[in-house]
Amino acid sequence: MDQCKLCRQEATLRKSHIVPEFVFKPVYDADHSAVMFEAKKPRHGYRRKGFWNHLFCDACEARFQRLEDYFADIWFSRPLRPQYLDGPIVRISGLDYNKFKLFHLSILWRADVSGLEVFADVSLGSHSEKLRRRILEDDPGAPDIYPITGLALKNTDGRFKDDLMLLPGGSTIGGHHVYMMLFGGVFWACAVSSHRQACPVPPNLQDDGSMTLFAQEWTANSAVRNLAKQLQAHFKKS
Ligand SMILES: [Zn+2]
Repeated sequence: MDQCKLCRQEATLRKSHIVPEFVFKPVYDADHSAVMFEAKKPRHGYRRKGFWNHLFCDACEARFQRLEDYFADIWFSRPLRPQYLDGPIVRISGLDYNKFKLFHLSILWRADVSGLEVFADVSLGSHSEKLRRRILEDDPGAPDIYPITGLALKNTDGRFKDDLMLLPGGSTIGGHHVYMMLFGGVFWACAVSSHRQACPVPPNLQDDGSMTLFAQEWTANSAVRNLAKQLQAHFKKS
């Protein structure tokens, strides 16, 4: 028995994944090992399984599972995103704002409380407790609180570039902490700060369930090009 990090009840803690397994799937190589990268580190990470720790009780695991199932459904199984990226902007509608946003926030929050070295870059400070409450109360707040935006990466076949992944990492831009992660063909960004002035992350996810993403050829993005080089080096070695 230990204390669940989300509800704080004494419970038997489950093996909790920090980043959902399904976002690793398109990234698995021929050995069924995920090839992924750590933000800011010029070396590749290589793990047969995702990252986990004993963190949450059954009820809280189910809470995260519900958010993960939702995202997997509307992004991969029965996608609300277009099949092909045409033009520089993608507009998506019909999203469940609460679930979509809490899914993203919950990955950041789990990375923060995970205690895992690989997520040391995610340090939410006083926002950790605020986000814990928001996840528990199913309340992601207004679009400009922890705003979320993304850059869609277009594969050579015109679809989303699903087979690259970057674990969450952070940087400070104009006094705002901005966390980035890459999965599902999108470089996602979320600003975690107490003030909203001059926030570098526009609230492109709106509470009417619409979202506007900029789109770019994946080879045109320098950060992604760098990842691709590391991927090639990885496959040469293995
Ligand atoms: Zn719990």
